[in-house]
Amino acid sequence: MKIYNTLTRQKEEFKPIKDGEVGIYSCGPTVYSSPHIGNMYAYVCWDVLVRTLKYLGYKVNNVVNITDVGHLTSDADSGEDKMEKGSKKEGMTVWEIAKKYENEFLENLKELNIETPWKMPRATEHIAEQIELIKKNEANGFTYKTTDGIYFDTAKFSDYGKFANLNLEKLREGARVEINEEKKNPTDFALWKFSPTDVKRQMEWESPWGVGFPGWHIECTAMSTKYLGETFDIHTGGEDHINIHHTNEIAQGFGAFGKISANYWMHNAFITFGGSKISKSSGGLYTIFDLKEMGFDSLAYRYLVLGSHYRKGMEFSVESLKAAESAYKRLKKYVDNFYAKGGVISDTDDNYLNKFKEKISDDLATPEALAIVWEMMKSNITEAKKIGTLLKFDEVLGLNLKNISGIIEDIPQEISLLAEERQKARDEKNWAESDRLREVLKDKGYLVEDLKNTCKILKI
Ligand SMILES: [Zn+2]
Repeated sequence: MKIYNTLTRQKEEFKPIKDGEVGIYSCGPTVYSSPHIGNMYAYVCWDVLVRTLKYLGYKVNNVVNITDVGHLTSDADSGEDKMEKGSKKEGMTVWEIAKKYENEFLENLKELNIETPWKMPRATEHIAEQIELIKKNEANGFTYKTTDGIYFDTAKFSDYGKFANLNLEKLREGARVEINEEKKNPTDFALWKFSPTDVKRQMEWESPWGVGFPGWHIECTAMSTKYLGETFDIHTGGEDHINIHHTNEIAQGFGAFGKISANYWMHNAFITFGGSKISKSSGGLYTIFDLKEMGFDSLAYRYLVLGSHYRKGMEFSVESLKAAESAYKRLKKYVDNFYAKGGVISDTDDNYLNKFKEKISDDLATPEALAIVWEMMKSNITEAKKIGTLLKFDEVLGLNLKNISGIIEDIPQEISLLAEERQKARDEKNWAESDRLREVLKDKGYLVEDLKNTCKILKI
């Protein structure tokens, strides 16, 4: 597998730390508002990464954190707290806001058929780990205290800014007017912020330095190293994280452990709408559920994402989504028709499997991999082989093409999962289990009619 590594600015052969195993950390959502398609884009890209590595035979331990503690709206450790802002706006506590939008994020994962990550730690449940990490930075001489918090002294880390190719001289010159005059260098960042004395914060914790809350970046280093080790394989995030968030993660990881926390850093580009990054002002801020209301299948969006490379980003439009949906439905129809007429998968086509593998393991070349899918579907290999190969590809694509309930539309996911489980039991000739699941489905109001090697689900 080849991966483009932001650390070295080149495509490299991926070498895991531990044979056959991969640890991945992806910066997760800040749960203070509904995730839009731009937010979810990254998680589709990284789901393809996880699925590809599994396809290639690795055991994958992937962590996606939940940022449920407030970041400040500005990168410069100033401005309003996003969570507290959301709380005021909706008349709920910050804890309720966090829960509400974490649930929305999880629903989005399901809609997009994104595999549930191995671990999804919440920042608020790792305050002790964050404090520990700050203490390590402090003990190693990388921090200093100001009236509003504990800061990382970027001048103490000689490689600071190397990751992002930052021109520190220029940055220093450009930062004559510093919001926080106590900061020694403009690039210094808060590890711990003290609670203001005049307003009561909803989220604050005791610490060795005083009551307050963690800075923006420390949670990721605390949780990634807790679950994956002081050095792990892959760290992912949006390309906007390179300059500040990941640069600072690297700095404080070095401050604590004396090394760079991840060996490979992967960054996705963004979705644009009308040529600019989707935002309130430029438009395109759809959620997956908005698209659903417009009549789109959520997986059509996933298909659209696969059609462009994660490092290039993509231009989103309703027209392009329509085109993606029609291609996606054609694939799905092939599979549905095959099963509806009692088709049986014979085996897979090695030639196409190899071609597909070559593309997908070349830094996740999904557009080229999709081209192989269509080349295969249009080839003259047998239909049984085509479907078999297509379903194998789908382990990476994640388009849920073998959703056997696809024959009948609008089956709740819970039911189709049960039916799939039952089908698996049947395939394994575990009749007792398959009978048990038939009863469970019946209790839930669905009848299963067995076909040759699949089944039909009927609502009672
Ligand atoms: Zn992060």
